[in-house]
Formats: sequence, structure tokens, C-alpha cells
Amino acid sequence: MDSTLSLLGMDREELTALVSNAGQPSYRAKQIMDAVYRQRVETLEEISTLSREFREKLAASGVEVGAARIEKKFKSVDGTVRYLIGFGDGQSVETVWMPEGDGGEAGDGSEAGKEAESEASTSGAKAQFLEEGFNAGLEGLLHPAKNRTGQDRGKLGRSTICISSQVGCAVDCQFCLTALLGVKRNLTAGEIVGQVCVVLKDQGVSPPEDRINLVFMGMGEPFLNYENFMKASRLLVEAVGIAERRMTVSTAGIVPRIHDFGEEKIRPKLAISLNASNDALRTRLMPLNKKWNLEMLIAVARDFPLRAREWVTFEYVLLGGVNDHPENARETAELLRGLRCKVNLIALNPGPGIDFTTPSGERVAAFQEILRAAAIPAFVRRPRGRDIYAACGQLKRTVEIATSPVVRQEQISPMPSAPHEG
Ligand code: SAH
Repeated sequence: MDSTLSLLGMDREELTALVSNAGQPSYRAKQIMDAVYRQRVETLEEISTLSREFREKLAASGVEVGAARIEKKFKSVDGTVRYLIGFGDGQSVETVWMPEGDGGEAGDGSEAGKEAESEASTSGAKAQFLEEGFNAGLEGLLHPAKNRTGQDRGKLGRSTICISSQVGCAVDCQFCLTALLGVKRNLTAGEIVGQVCVVLKDQGVSPPEDRINLVFMGMGEPFLNYENFMKASRLLVEAVGIAERRMTVSTAGIVPRIHDFGEEKIRPKLAISLNASNDALRTRLMPLNKKWNLEMLIAVARDFPLRAREWVTFEYVLLGGVNDHPENARETAELLRGLRCKVNLIALNPGPGIDFTTPSGERVAAFQEILRAAAIPAFVRRPRGRDIYAACGQLKRTVEIATSPVVRQEQISPMPSAPHEG
């Protein structure tokens, strides 16, 4: 495996070098880019624009496409699909597809995005897709691309793909299932982009014709895999065709990287997992707060160079009786005063081994109200795919979790014999 070289993950410069080393004209690089990122081929043989001879030469020198593989797929009653996606070394991550109705302009699942986009989309088309999503059934689940016709194009509204940046996670947030895995390794840029390519292909959609939002909110801490995450972001914009403004990255608060991120020419929008209103509480819930405390975090957020019509999103996971008191809402409002931001409130998604409770709807609404009264836009994020463990903080490799019996479960290809233990 070590001697192979994946095309997926290579940018224009690297591909140009590859083709020129092979004595080929530079336009071959563009052909490879189109094949890998737009057509989303899985094998060299499929790159029909290249001569057989050149393809064979590439293969002989250990070059492969390096496409990700769908190992399992779970579909929620709400249409959300959770994919277990495997890579060459037997490691896997989870990637979530949320059809229409989540995502929004910010691509982060808030009502804010919904409001912002409602002008641009036709509600009839949305309703139609929703119905299609619910009725797609097994055939639709296995071969969604087959069920789509030309006229479906663009009807997907605000579908969102939630992607992972690491296998597991090293940030020990006490309420998150992924944290229980620890971190196994970083994903390469190709593996990050590969998740998007394989899901787009499986869903039979293609940006920019279909509007796709992307959130780096799956497994892992993107800012602890910064270079690969950034390279993947650029490839997603420049090669796959996803608009920059439709991508959002969420960080647990790696302060120096937030600073670096602000200087990037091409970058997704920024979301920060706040989750607590004072240092004592945040350190208890997110031990990384010892290293980068609220003062440092809020300072870097205040300095963040926002673009036109851009704001920082703060996520706040509400844990019953822990960080959901009116006093916490008031402290949060105080912290964020004057910052161009919005807050996404997420009621805890429960999971095995997570010792917190989900607050009541009234409690969540009361928290939201206090923020709003303090002129801070606050939205409650609708949980997606909770029944299949696809919601925020529930991503942990599929095979380790007993999913609810009501869930339709498809094993697309046999699991590799290596055990997928966490
Ligand atoms: N590591 C990054 C990216 C993951 S995003 C980050 O922390 O931002 C995942 C989001 O889900 C974060 O905002 C996190 O606070 C939230 N989350 C984690 N566990 C959760 C849970 N059990 N219920 C609801 N939200 C959760």
C-alpha cells in the first residue's frame, strides 16, 4: 500500500508535475482533474481521455485513483444517511448526507441559513424532494442515482454533507461519542475530498448544478489536521466545484489555527464549539480549554477577518442541568456582545457512555430567548438522524454501535476481515 500514489488529493500543480515526469503534455493534468473530481471515476481504466498506454504506465508506477469506498450505509427515518467510508489501510470514518432542509446558507444546519436561502429556492420543489426522500425505499437507498432524472436537477435545495477530518478525535469533549475513540490518524486531503466524491456519486448529485453544502463537522478536529484540511478545502472549491460560501468548518477552539485560518485566501466559513459560558464549566466539558481559554478564544474570534455577509457561528451543546441555566445564557450573551456572530443551540444528542441528559424543549427555548433578547441571533439546530447515530457528537464507527432495530440497515459490501475496533 505504501508504494501507491493516489490521484485523489493531488492538486493541479502536483498533477502537472506527474504528467510532465511521464513525458506527457500538461493538458493531461486537466483531464485527470476532470476525471477524478468531476466525473468521480474509481479506476484508472475509467479515465478514457488518457491513452491506454499512459494509463498502464501510471498503474505500473504505482499510481491509482485512491477513491474512498462505502462500506456500510444507514438510513434514518428523516432521510439522513450515515455512511461508513473505508480507506486503503482498513481505517474508516463516518460521513453524513442530510437531504434538503438542513444546512442552510451557512451550511451548518441552522434556521438562520434556512431563512437566508428561502428567497432563492422554490418551496414546491423542496416539498417534492422531501417526499421523494421518504418514499425512495430500498431501491432508492441502494441506487439513488438511478432514480434521478434531468428534471430533478437543482431540486435538492440545501442538501448537506458532513465530513470527517480524522479517524477518531484527540479532543476529549466529555459529551461527544467520537472522543471515546481517541485519535487513530489524520485523514489525507484525498481521503477528505474522497468522502465528498463518493457520497455525491452515491446520491447521484453534482455541484454546482445541485446546490451542496459542506460542513467539516464529522469525526475529528479539522484544525489538528490543518494542512490536509486546507488542501482538501481548496480542492473542493477549485476541482469539485463546491462554493466557498457553502462550506463551514467547526473547531473545538484551536486558537493559533483559527488565527492562521483567517489569513487563508480560499477558506470555508468558521464555526466554533463554545459549549460553555465560563472557564470552569468549559474546562470541565472540554479539557482543551485549559490550554486555550475563553479569553483567548473570544479574542481570536473578535479579530477574525470576516468577509461581507459573513459571521462567526458559535455552537453550544445544551446539557440538561449543566450548562443550560438562564445564568449561562446571560454569560454567553455577555461573552459574545458586539461580535458579528450567531449561536446555534444543539440539545445534547445522547449516546452510550455519555453521562449527560438532553434538556427539555422549554429549557432550550428559554436559553434561546435570553440570547435573542440580548440581540444575539440564536437558532436551535434540528437533530438529524439521531435514530441512526448520525447526529452531532454521535459519530463513532458504525460497527461498534448497536443501532435501533427500526433502522433499515444495508451492508453494501462485506466488511473487511480486519476488526474495526475503537
Ligand atoms: N471537532 C470539531 C468538529 C466536530 S463538530 C468541533 O468540536 O467543533 C461537532 C459539533 O457537535 C460540535 O459543535 C460539538 O460541540 C457538537 N457535539 C458534540 N457532541 C455532541 C452531542 N453529544 N450532542 C450534540 N452535539 C454534540
